[in-house]
Amino acid sequence: MKVNESGGELSGAQPRILAVMNQKGGVGKTTTTVSVAAALAARGVRVLIVDLDPQGNASVGLGIRVGDGEQAVYDVLLADVPTADVVRATSVENLFLLPSSIDLAGAEVELVAVDAREQRLKGALDALGADYDVILIDCPPSLGLLTVNALTAAHNVIVPIQCEYYALEGLRQLLTTVSRVTQALNPQLVLGGVVLTMYDGRTNLAQNVVDEVREHFGAQVFHSVIPRSVRLAEAPSYGEPIRVFDPESRGASAYEALADEFCARFSLRCHTPVDMPAINRGEL
Ligand code: ATP
Ligand code: MG
Repeated sequence: MKVNESGGELSGAQPRILAVMNQKGGVGKTTTTVSVAAALAARGVRVLIVDLDPQGNASVGLGIRVGDGEQAVYDVLLADVPTADVVRATSVENLFLLPSSIDLAGAEVELVAVDAREQRLKGALDALGADYDVILIDCPPSLGLLTVNALTAAHNVIVPIQCEYYALEGLRQLLTTVSRVTQALNPQLVLGGVVLTMYDGRTNLAQNVVDEVREHFGAQVFHSVIPRSVRLAEAPSYGEPIRVFDPESRGASAYEALADEFCARFSLRCHTPVDMPAINRGEL
């Protein structure tokens, strides 16, 4: 896979599409998606989150539950419902959601029989035109057809890695999947960056993992390291991104700094958020 440190320029008013991916469960994909998305939205960027995980954690984390009979990303992928009809506004200005529902659990199997099954999400997002500046896709913890749909639609892959033992396990498989998609379906796809999550500064192990990941991925690793923080774990149950739930927390600061790195790396037109003047950045 090609490494593109600047994130690359896109032509015209195309949204930048980022797939937040790691087939390992519980590494911080959803937390990173929701937290960065809210921080970018506060910087004046119009952001759409695609909740591509049947668990629906990103949707719940934004306080949105899809009721019986209500449409969700499943209907866009498998029933040709127009994407714009399913997108919802969230309580955060500039932040929108294409929600998940439990039906999506069947989509991996149902997609197999569909024409251009890997390109369904790409088609659905292309249909949105220039409505958003950035689209963040929260992938499920698997390398199945839903994740392949995300990779086919995306310009860049963002890989959260948890600072724990076995952190690098599975990454070879992840990178092989990405390069297969690059060769067969989406030549423009490049790695967009690695996010170190759940860093516990009290352990040598966490620092060893940071060093190892930086050695392996070099400049691809974002400077902002996300600390392990109870406040980050609590925020989803209130349906609020961390910058709303606890703007003074260390987790919020780290994700604000990460969002600034996204602005620079992906050439997004961002302004300084007016609501967090006292933010304490770059702790780590
Ligand atoms: P899945 O693979 O199940 O989709 P995921 O990779 O999306 O998981 P998250 O849901 O973001 O991972 O995080 C897993 C759990 O850890 C969640 O309960 C979340 O609230 C919590 N968590 C995420 N980041 C942190 C953090 N920095 N500190 C403490 N808890 C965290
Ligand atoms: Mg998740």
